[in-house]
Amino acid sequence: MKSITPDQIIKIPGKRIKENEKFHFHCHAELACFNKCCRNLNLFLYPYDVIKLKNHLNISSDVFLDKYVDILLRPDNFFPDVLLKMTETDEKTCPFLTEKGCSVYINRPDTCRTFPIEKGMLFNDNTNHTIISLFRPPDFCLGQHEQKSLTLSKWAEDQQAFTYNKMTEKWGKIKSLFYKDPWNSEGAYGPKGKMAFMAVYNIDKFRNFIFKSTFLKRYKVKASILKKAGKDDTVLLAIGFSWIKFFIFNIKTKSITLR
Ligand code: SF4
Ligand code: SF4
Repeated sequence: MKSITPDQIIKIPGKRIKENEKFHFHCHAELACFNKCCRNLNLFLYPYDVIKLKNHLNISSDVFLDKYVDILLRPDNFFPDVLLKMTETDEKTCPFLTEKGCSVYINRPDTCRTFPIEKGMLFNDNTNHTIISLFRPPDFCLGQHEQKSLTLSKWAEDQQAFTYNKMTEKWGKIKSLFYKDPWNSEGAYGPKGKMAFMAVYNIDKFRNFIFKSTFLKRYKVKASILKKAGKDDTVLLAIGFSWIKFFIFNIKTKSITLR
C-alpha cells in the first residue's frame, strides 16, 4: 500500500472509488483473460501475506523469503519492499499459478484479493491518513466490461479481504514512518535495519529472537500478548510492529516497555 501526499494524487492513474460508490466488475473462469493477470507483476507482499503464504506452504519464513521474494530498496524509501519473484519463464508467471488457477487461492496475497482495486494511504500530514481506492484494471482485463455491480465493501467481502486490508493498513502506518531516514550512517541494510526487517517479514526468526535471546530480559511485553505470540504468528507480528515503533523511532507503545 503506497503512501500518497495530496499533491501526488492527481498524477496517480485509475478511477478513484468512494466508499459506497458502485463500480462494475466480475472475474470468472469463462473469460478469455482468465489467469492472464497472474504474470509479469510487481506483486508487493506485505508482512501478513508472508505469514499466510509460508504457513500455506508449510515452510519457515526464512525459506519462503529465500525462495519466493525479491527485496529492493526504492530510491525514495528507507525500508525495503518485498516483491513476489515471478518465474524465469518467457511469460514470467506467478510461481503459484497452475493450469487450474491459483494454487494458494485461500491464502493469496492482499494485492491479488483487492485487484483490480489498488489502495493507497493519503496523508494530509505525518500522522492522519485516509485510505483511497483506485479502480485500475489493465486493458486486457475483461472483467471490467461485465455488468456485476459492486461496492468496495461488497468486493472486500466477496474476496474475504477484510483482515488482509486491516493488516496491510497497520503495516502501511508503520512503513510511513520510514519517510525519513532513521538509520543514520548504517543504512537500511545495517544491523538495526536487518532487525527491523526480521521483526515483520521473518516472523519465525523473530519468534526465536523474542523467546531464545536476551530480549525478554531487556524488554517487557504485555503478558497476555506474549502468551499468545508463542504460537500465533499474527499476534507476534503485532509485537513486531510495536517493536519497530519503539526500537527504531522511540515511540511509546502499550505492549512493549524497557525493563
Ligand atoms: S484479467 Fe481481470 S477478469 Fe481476467 S482473470 Fe484477471 S482479474 Fe479476472
Ligand atoms: S498468488 Fe495466485 S492470484 Fe496472486 S498472482 Fe499468484 S496465482 Fe495469481
